[in-house]
Amino acid sequence: MIPKTITPSCPPQGGNVQARLAVIGDPISHSLSPLLQNSLIAHFGLPFVYEALHVRAEDLPVLVARLRRGELAGVNVTIPHKQAIIPMLDELVYPADRIGAVNTVCIVKGRLVGHNTDAVGFQRSCAKANIALSNKEILLLGAGGAAKALVFALLEKGARTIHLCNRNRERAERLRESLSHAERERVRIVSWEERAILAQTQTVEIVINTTSVGMHETKTESPLPVTAFHKGMAAIDLIYNPAETLFLQQAERAGAIVSNGLPMLIYQGLAALELWSGRRLKIETIYAALEKRMREAL
Ligand code: NAP
Repeated sequence: MIPKTITPSCPPQGGNVQARLAVIGDPISHSLSPLLQNSLIAHFGLPFVYEALHVRAEDLPVLVARLRRGELAGVNVTIPHKQAIIPMLDELVYPADRIGAVNTVCIVKGRLVGHNTDAVGFQRSCAKANIALSNKEILLLGAGGAAKALVFALLEKGARTIHLCNRNRERAERLRESLSHAERERVRIVSWEERAILAQTQTVEIVINTTSVGMHETKTESPLPVTAFHKGMAAIDLIYNPAETLFLQQAERAGAIVSNGLPMLIYQGLAALELWSGRRLKIETIYAALEKRMREAL
């Protein structure tokens, strides 16, 4: 999903010039992206500095104008701008065009190019956790923006069947409708009430929570009952704060292989930095320290 040759968002500059990068959103003060990106920038000695910018919906056009003037070399985009920024860009690169959401903007020859690195971030996080996706039967909980990115990531990695299950069934159906005929063949809608029964079947090998259940005021809740987990399955929660949701605790106790949302967060950020810098960046040697630093900052 990352093109083979990458045109750097910000051409290398001489001297000590540091190009500015930012994450834009509202709210934004909680974002771990500055810690992640500045750690990576320092490790690789890249000519960037990265900050969090609080941008309200009404100020998005002003921010985009600043990008066009070259005041920033690129941005990460988060809630609530991932869709709203699309009409203000010049080009979308796959899979951002199919997902309909942009989380990274690069400037290439003066043109604003939108990418979505969530899908590749998820794929790399699964590889890191040794969770193979090819030919797997998967229960995907949720049908919001993150779920859409994951559907593409899973289809691309050869998932056999995706059982798509959302509290609001129509939203899941709309997501499925947005797929091609061939893609739809591998995506099945499951009612919210059916989810636990389905997960209990030995044929479901991976369950993924992309709902926000387990965060904030729902910290004591899980989107699946404890009976849904079994030994040998993999359970992935996109939530990273708290680092161990009830969903993951119960899955682990049942003997499942578990992964939270931090690896995906790290790898989607890494993919963005690769786009901006035009370099392939390997983080195996610093991964553990980086994840620890981010956990401590939660
Ligand atoms: P979103 O578009 O707002 O979707 C939220 C989803 O959660 C919807 O499917 C919604 O179902 C469901 N939901 C919310 N409250 C629920 C409840 N009480 N019971 C059942 N379902 C409920 O959000 P998103 O952007 O997809 O993000 C979803 C989660 O993924 C968040 O926790 C976010 O932090 C996480 N995420 C993590 C990463 C990462 O890098 N680790 C990246 C992106 C997102 P309805 O449609 O029925 O309302």
